[in-house]
Amino acid sequence: MALTEAEIEERIRSGCPGEQHPVFAEGKPRPTAFLDRDGVINKDRGYVHRIEDIELMPDAIEAIEDLKKAGWWVVVVTNQSGVGCGLYTEEEFREISRWMLRRMPIDVIFCCLHDPEDRCPARKPGTTMLESAERVLPIDKSMSFLVGDKLTDIQAAEAFGIPGHRYDGGSLLSFVRRACAELGA
Ligand SMILES: [Mg+2]
Ligand SMILES: [Zn+2]
Repeated sequence: MALTEAEIEERIRSGCPGEQHPVFAEGKPRPTAFLDRDGVINKDRGYVHRIEDIELMPDAIEAIEDLKKAGWWVVVVTNQSGVGCGLYTEEEFREISRWMLRRMPIDVIFCCLHDPEDRCPARKPGTTMLESAERVLPIDKSMSFLVGDKLTDIQAAEAFGIPGHRYDGGSLLSFVRRACAELGA
């Protein structure tokens, strides 16, 4: 059940204010795992923007597959200010996103490409990316969490009203399973 190119493109979305997004899914609210990208799915080597620089964290794919099997939404929320700062292009960001979407069952990738100086409220610790997700997916917030490697990720989760879990390596599968267990899932 490989995704078509159109399905891949519709999963890569700007989470910034003013973006009009088509609904991604409807129905009964589901638990949702919000995952930061750099430092959670792949090693954060600083402004990763080339596929050859992607080094996945341990059990990253297994963690996402496990969540999907259990009926969770898996939503990536990633600050990508390297685009806004001119260090790499939006197309380079999208190419990495496509690479990931072809290899792991992520539902949607929300990004903020703004330079911090733009003060975009989508940039974590802002919550607009999370709110953007909520508008296009039926999310059960009482059964959701965010995994990030920085304090700003945790702050975004808390401001949105879900637990934020700080991950700093080791099996992402074990980490996510513990986060699910804390919610009784
Ligand atoms: Mg990170
Ligand atoms: Zn933004």
